[in-house]
Parts: sequence; C-alpha cells; structure tokens
Amino acid sequence: MKKISIIIPAYNEEKNLPLVVSALANVWEQSNLNDKYDYNIIFIDDGSRDNTLKVLKDLASKNTHVKFIEFSRNFGKEFAVSAGLKYAQMGSGCDAVIIMDADLQHPPSFIPTMLNMWSEKQNTDGEVDMVIGVRTKNKGEGLVKKVGSVVFYKIMNLLSEATMVPRETDFRLLDKKVLVEFNKLTEHNRITRGLINWLGFRKEYIEFAADERINGVASYSPWKLLKLAIHSFVSHSLLPLRITGYAGVTICFFTLILGIGVIIEKHILRDPWGLSITGTAELAILNIFLIGVVLSALGLIALYIESVQAEVVDRPLFIVRDTNI
Ligand code: UDP
Ligand code: MG
Repeated sequence: MKKISIIIPAYNEEKNLPLVVSALANVWEQSNLNDKYDYNIIFIDDGSRDNTLKVLKDLASKNTHVKFIEFSRNFGKEFAVSAGLKYAQMGSGCDAVIIMDADLQHPPSFIPTMLNMWSEKQNTDGEVDMVIGVRTKNKGEGLVKKVGSVVFYKIMNLLSEATMVPRETDFRLLDKKVLVEFNKLTEHNRITRGLINWLGFRKEYIEFAADERINGVASYSPWKLLKLAIHSFVSHSLLPLRITGYAGVTICFFTLILGIGVIIEKHILRDPWGLSITGTAELAILNIFLIGVVLSALGLIALYIESVQAEVVDRPLFIVRDTNI
C-alpha cells in the first residue's frame, strides 16, 4: 500500500469542502484505488472568514481520512500549500502528495490517471517524479486574467532559469523525493510552481479542462495576481536592474567618443568643419555622460544585490535525484 497525501488549501470554501471530500471518496471507490493506495486529505484553513474551519472539524470527526491545519490568519495560498507539504512529510510520511484546489476546478477524476503515470513507470527506465496538470481552458476566466497570464509566463521565462510551461497549474502529483527537496527550500517570496520547477526532476504532463468554480468567488483578484507576478519577477531575477546598467555603460561609451570628438574638433583643430558647437551643447554631452555613469553604478549595484540575494535565499547548491553511495 502506498500512502498518498492530498493537500488542499482552503480560503472561504465552506460549501465546497464536503463536495471535495465526497468526490475524492468516490474516485477511490470507483477506480478501485483502495487496495493500492491509502490516502489522507490535508486541508489548510488559510484564515477563512466563513465557517470553513467548523466544516473541516466536522468532516474530520466523521472521516478519518480528513486532517486539517488551521492558520492563525490569512497567509495566502502559496504558504498554505507549503504548510501542507511540510506536514505531509512529518509523522509516518507519505509516498506521494497531490496538490489541488478546494473549489473543484482541479477535477478529482484525473487522480487515478496521475497515480498511474507515477506508479506504473516506477520500475522501468522512465520513472516519473512529478505529474503536472496543464489547463486546456478555464471557463469563466476574464480577458484580463487570460492576457495577464500569457504576459506573465513570457516575462518569467525570459527572466528565470527554470522554464515554466504556460497553463501549468498547481494541480500536481509529487513523488516523496520531490517533496523532501521542496521542504528544504527556505525562501519567503515563493511561487510554489516556480520553486518546484526549479528543483528539476522527471516530469510528465496531463491535460485537463478547468470548470468554473462551484461555490464562492475566486479570491485572486487581478490586482492580487499583479502583485504576485511582480514579486516573482523580482525574486527570480535582477535582469531589469542589470539592463539599466548596460544602458549606462552604452551611454557612457558613446558620449565619451562624442565628447572627445568635440574637444578635438572645436578646441584643438579650431572648428575645421564649421560646426560652431556651442557651450550649451558641450554641457549637454557632459550631462548625458554623467547620467550614463549613474546608470552604470546602478547596474553594478544589481550585481552586488544578486550575490547577496543568492546567499540570503540560500537555495541548495544542487539537487540529487538518485545515487548508489
Ligand atoms: N486560497 C487560499 N488562500 C488565499 C486564496 C485562495 O488558500 O488567500 C485557496 C482557495 O481556497 C482555493 C485555491 O487557493 O482552494 C485557489 O484559489 P482561487 O480559486 O481563488 O484561485 P483561482 O482559481 O483563480 O486560481
Ligand atoms: Mg479556483
């Protein structure tokens, strides 16, 4: 029997929780997973303001599969998932975790396939460490969110070294190997998906269509998403700051050549080309040169920040997938 922990962050999901629990029980029943996999569901109540916690405690008292973690306030989904992943590894542990949303936008009916992809290939060459849900469409998603997500992935892939596939979701299965490595990461600014991707490992993808959420409203407003996006750009790269540095160096280079040219033409050769360059123009060139110096200094600071950031974030130097030592 393999142990599976299903991790579900919940923020104001009182109506959806009983549905999720019964949907999961149905999946286990109907797909005959009972004799192969033992499961528990770890709900993280992320400081909900409705009856989520009460409903959770109620479910837990009736159903031994249900576990809950109560946050002291709303910390955000990324931290709720992180908490779930930490707790899943504690105690008797588990062989794999599945992360999914509480609003049933991540269909439980795909879980048997995910489990199959993970365990079927376990003993052959192509061991799968991670099965990632990729959204084909998202009903009820506004244009702003759609365009926003395309732009986000474009910029993100430009900036960071671990590529993110557009439409990749948090709906995913992680082998214990991945879980253990993930739990070693200590950074505070975190996008779970990005971090998991940074870890590497062998991935397999599964496509699903996200339905509209059943009850309640999506709590990620475009504004909250924009903030999240900016955070992840900044935490993944200092490229924007470095670009100003490159611009500064370029400006310095060209204004220096221009300045030397002007000095030679006007002051040494006494204006053989008849350009009559004014003192104001000379001042302007000097000014632009100095702006270039300032921008180069900014770029230099970016390099320092980058090395400080690398030390502070303290990511593992490498991730080992397998060894026989
Ligand atoms: N969620 C959370 N904390 C928050 C916001 C959301 O734990 O502050 C949970 C929420 O209960 C759901 C999942 O994160 O299980 C996805 O949230 P939502 O459906 O609002 O986002 P979307 O579907 O737009 O990604
Ligand atoms: Mg949702």
